[in-house]
Amino acid sequence: MTIVDLYVILKSQNQEREKIMKTIKNFLAENDIVMPEGTINGGWFAEHDLPMIVSCTCCGITMALPSAYIDEDGYTYCSGCAGED
Ligand SMILES: [Zn+2]
Repeated sequence: MTIVDLYVILKSQNQEREKIMKTIKNFLAENDIVMPEGTINGGWFAEHDLPMIVSCTCCGITMALPSAYIDEDGYTYCSGCAGED
């Protein structure tokens, strides 16, 4: 095995381990829930059985659901920890 082969293998392993972050809006859209634009009233969250406020799995900060990110395991993150800042 050459160094180049090894490098390619390590690189592909790192990519697999990297979490795929989605915006809540995209995540809900995949589940056929359309998030309204702008200010969303509390009734909408209740109707879809969704929390209005979620906390970041990584740093613990709380945020409104629409500004959160979610990984493929369903954990929520702030934009900073999701690497989207
Ligand atoms: Zn965070």
